[in-house]
Amino acid sequence: MTCAISIEALSMEFGAPGQGMKALDDISLEIGDNEFFTLLGPSGCGKTTLLRLIAGFEQPSAGVIRLYGEPMQELPPFRRPVNTVFQSYALFPHMTVAQNIGFGLEMQGKPKAEIAETVRRMLELVKLPDVGNRRADQLSGGQQQRIALARALASRPRVLLLDESLSALDQKLRKDMQIELKRLQAETGITFIFVTHDQEEALTMSDRIAVMSKGRILQVGTPNDIYENPANRTVADFIGETNFLIGDPFSGGVRLADGQLLSVPCSQTTPVTLAIRPERISLSDSGNLQGEVEEVVYIGTDTLYLLKVAGQSGFRVRQQNRCGARALLARGSKVGIEVPVDAIRVLVE
Ligand code: ATP
Repeated sequence: MTCAISIEALSMEFGAPGQGMKALDDISLEIGDNEFFTLLGPSGCGKTTLLRLIAGFEQPSAGVIRLYGEPMQELPPFRRPVNTVFQSYALFPHMTVAQNIGFGLEMQGKPKAEIAETVRRMLELVKLPDVGNRRADQLSGGQQQRIALARALASRPRVLLLDESLSALDQKLRKDMQIELKRLQAETGITFIFVTHDQEEALTMSDRIAVMSKGRILQVGTPNDIYENPANRTVADFIGETNFLIGDPFSGGVRLADGQLLSVPCSQTTPVTLAIRPERISLSDSGNLQGEVEEVVYIGTDTLYLLKVAGQSGFRVRQQNRCGARALLARGSKVGIEVPVDAIRVLVE
């Protein structure tokens, strides 16, 4: 993998050194050329701070950022081969769409004919070839978002930073733009670094994801890695729905709080957390676990059962409602739960 961005021991502290707040705490990361890479994490975990450091809007307290091998600390933002698309498109409302897209190129003193040609190509790329003469404030939110992208791409950055770029759009438009962004990334070959707190969005769009929490990176991997093999409980909890069961290892598996035994390979000697995705579980007469139905939620395609298992409430099982109506289990029923061994992840924390 050719490395587009390498980040080494990066920290960012706001306020007085040693007493301030660490927005980023010793982060190291490599992002490949031509990757669609996502920074995912809850509000306040440091995603925007990391983007701002890559863009050069802030200087780190410690650590080094290299873009294509070049250390960036001496370079002001406008000299970095990077552009940013913000959540609030930040278009100039009184200018035409074409003027907005060509603005950066005009500032660089490019010839008029070259600017016109680039604007035309960018409008084609974002599939709005006919809006060049409209004023930016006469476009819909979705169209403005595309123009903001076209403007950011016009200066041919090697890296495009996208900060919660879709979060102002309604649900339907957002889904369309997710696919559109993926297409734009593939077509342009530019490295995209996308920031979101929406795990589904991250899973849908990314080649790789870095899951962040409290200024640190918890895990880096493909969407499949992160979903199937979460590194720890925080990641498993943040990505998708997960059931957690606490237990003590013994030679054949794990003993749960109420004495039930779950046979699963486990090399730990101290208490472990088992993570199990609800869609991997089925209810059956026998089952390798037993539980009691506490709540039944009918949601059309699925029924969600909330069970009490090993003394713990809120254990989720999703059953598809295939072949028409099926009698729902009643609250208070004792049920068998079938958990395939390969659906169980043993976490040490
Ligand atoms: P969100 O999804 O809400 O935008 P985020 O993950 O992007 O959150 P950041 O904006 O990077 O998080 O903020 C990380 C932490 O750093 C937060 O606690 C924030 O309050 C703090 N912070 C960010 N910028 C500054 C600043 N200029 N001065 C002081 N603290 C700051």
